[in-house]
Amino acid sequence: MITENSIQEIRDIDLVEVAKKYVDDLKKKGANYNGCCPFHDEKSGSFMVNPAKNIYKCFGCGAGGADAIKFVMDKERMEFIPAVKYLADWFGITLEETKTKNEEPEEQKAKKVDYRTINKWAAGKYQKALFELNCGSWPVEPFSPVIQELLGNRLLTNDSIIDFQLGYAPAKGRLLTDGLIERGMFVPAEELGLVKKGANGNYDINRDRIMFPITTSGAR
Ligand SMILES: [Zn+2]
Repeated sequence: MITENSIQEIRDIDLVEVAKKYVDDLKKKGANYNGCCPFHDEKSGSFMVNPAKNIYKCFGCGAGGADAIKFVMDKERMEFIPAVKYLADWFGITLEETKTKNEEPEEQKAKKVDYRTINKWAAGKYQKALFELNCGSWPVEPFSPVIQELLGNRLLTNDSIIDFQLGYAPAKGRLLTDGLIERGMFVPAEELGLVKKGANGNYDINRDRIMFPITTSGAR
């Protein structure tokens, strides 16, 4: 990432110097510089640069901005960073970049988000499987015999199933595995203890059981 200081240095580049390259007739007129607009075709100069404020404005086409970056972005049709680099090259400014500093925390942050996403996704899959087990009926009650057997003596109502976000991990054992592989999330899910690598293929850890929510703190 380019540092704020370097970006500021580029912002501070004299707009008059930049505009001169594109406006042949740019001339001082009072506090401003004036010439024919580089953003639209015209014969009389409605383009102005104010060097004190380092801003430009065309009263013909409305083009305008508050630094050289904006000017180059518009004129050269560049994105922000390419425009910054273009100006740095032009004016011989060395851009400072922070690399090693920011990379590690960013990576850790991404991983945390991944875990949360995986947990949420898995909870959703389990919930859906529970409803499917109940012949896809919503609300869940009356529970199918299979669910009643799985619940055993636990007296759970429909409301509590929804409130607690209960789900079901099917016996087949690949409910999560296939989806995780597809999404490239198998490895972090393995770290979470949801799935496992096996000699005969990867598989879900939880099988044929009612799942209580795996997301606890910070889930929403
Ligand atoms: Zn114009």
